[in-house]
Amino acid sequence: MPFSSLGLSAEVTRAVTEKGYTEPTPVQRQAIPVILEGRDIMAGAQTGTGKTAGFTLPLLHRLHATVPGGGRRVVRALILTPTRELAAQVAESVQTYGRHVPLKSAVIFGGVSINPQIAALRRGVDILVATPGRLLDHVSQRTLDLSQVEILVLDEADRMLDMGFIRDIRKILALLPKKRQNLLFSATYSEEIRTLADDLLDNPALIEVARRNTTAERVSQRVHPVDAKRKRELLSFLIGSHNWRQVLVFTRTKHGANRLAEQLGRDGITAAAIHGNKSQGARTKALADFKRNAVRVLVATDIAARGLDIDQLPHVVNFELPNVPEDYVHRIGRTGRAGNEGEAISLVCVDEHAYLRDIERLLKREIPKEIIEGFKPDPSIKAEPIVQGRNGRGGRPAGGGRNGGGNGNGNGRGRAPRQEAGAGRGRRGDGRSQEGARAARSGAAGENGQRQGGNRSGNGGGNGAGKPRSGRPAAERFNARPRREVPALLGGGRD
Ligand code: AMP
Repeated sequence: MPFSSLGLSAEVTRAVTEKGYTEPTPVQRQAIPVILEGRDIMAGAQTGTGKTAGFTLPLLHRLHATVPGGGRRVVRALILTPTRELAAQVAESVQTYGRHVPLKSAVIFGGVSINPQIAALRRGVDILVATPGRLLDHVSQRTLDLSQVEILVLDEADRMLDMGFIRDIRKILALLPKKRQNLLFSATYSEEIRTLADDLLDNPALIEVARRNTTAERVSQRVHPVDAKRKRELLSFLIGSHNWRQVLVFTRTKHGANRLAEQLGRDGITAAAIHGNKSQGARTKALADFKRNAVRVLVATDIAARGLDIDQLPHVVNFELPNVPEDYVHRIGRTGRAGNEGEAISLVCVDEHAYLRDIERLLKREIPKEIIEGFKPDPSIKAEPIVQGRNGRGGRPAGGGRNGGGNGNGNGRGRAPRQEAGAGRGRRGDGRSQEGARAARSGAAGENGQRQGGNRSGNGGGNGAGKPRSGRPAAERFNARPRREVPALLGGGRD
């Protein structure tokens, strides 16, 4: 796709061509048309993705297209960055991309004399790049008027919050006209960022892209401890709240893959399963649909996933840890390919702690653990052995090296494999099932689901994440199944 098809003016396109760019990066492809429409955006893009041009090019186009009357230049676009270095870098990009449009830009940051900045502002500036502290210095010295700002960019917003700029940002927001376009860029989506986005953005387009020019070592790994019966709910929550568009999810068994794909579908998240029991035609179709973003989640077993090469696959989730540690390495190798950054997340229940230790031993490092609010594991649940299916390879008892009875019983039949949410736990008795259902109703996931529903984001992570569409919590729905269905889930072997 050439730059000329994005709808940018000839002057802006020319500057990009002169810079030697042949085609837009993914964030540019996604963000530029939306910004040109005048919409707010929330973009999960990091440095290295080409995000600076992603917001600067349409910003230049829009400001150039509507030259205000009155003669005197006023600040019409404000770009806030966390650091001086980034401010300088962005200002340079604004200069470069804006070389053929008659707009003036300036950069202001601390640590240098304020006087040249005052002089530049006095001469008149259309686009101002600034760090928050020095910006407020100018405001207090009345050397800067922000009352005509039409477009606000918060670049690396998460870093600004990490650096303690939230109060400064709020002060600056109060100085801007209410009616304006807001573009928020953040590498991560913390609770704080989401709160800021809620206040700041009006019906934003959500944009998520992977990093360019990074190596496979950049796969970031994380473990979310969670109870087995709440894994599905947590997965839906993570997909929805982060607005992940393309997620490869691993289960240990074929039945587990099928069932999870169905359950996600019921949660409003499009999913397909891929495993050895599916015909090649079905597998090819599932993979093609996933690659062209027609389905958001591909649920796969280890063997089916071997050799999958999906360009820029940003997220891999281990819904269940593999019992063979090397499989973990193969799984996470699906992301971070071809110089893209990747994220590998593992949902780990108490039964899988021994698997996790084996994996960490193989990796020679600990994987960071993070409990997601509202999904804290119940400490009263004790580890139970994981029974492998028919073709289970090298299974080992879970539960910290205890000699788990039942794991070595040969065929894996006769006990429900701990496949996924609810599968084993639901059989423990109604007390726990009810508790799970209550937690699903009243816990953070539900709250988040509501919060997101109330969020103004148009196409946001509001797929009812954490709150199934039926209005009935997943744990309750699963546990409400007649018991006789459980044996039908048995024997789901590996491919
Ligand atoms: P950024 O993420 O904005 O810091 O940009 C990262 C690097 O990518 C910068 O060196 C840009 O000059 C470069 N860049 C931005 N857009 C493109 C493009 N469409 N093609 C090639 N390089 C680009």
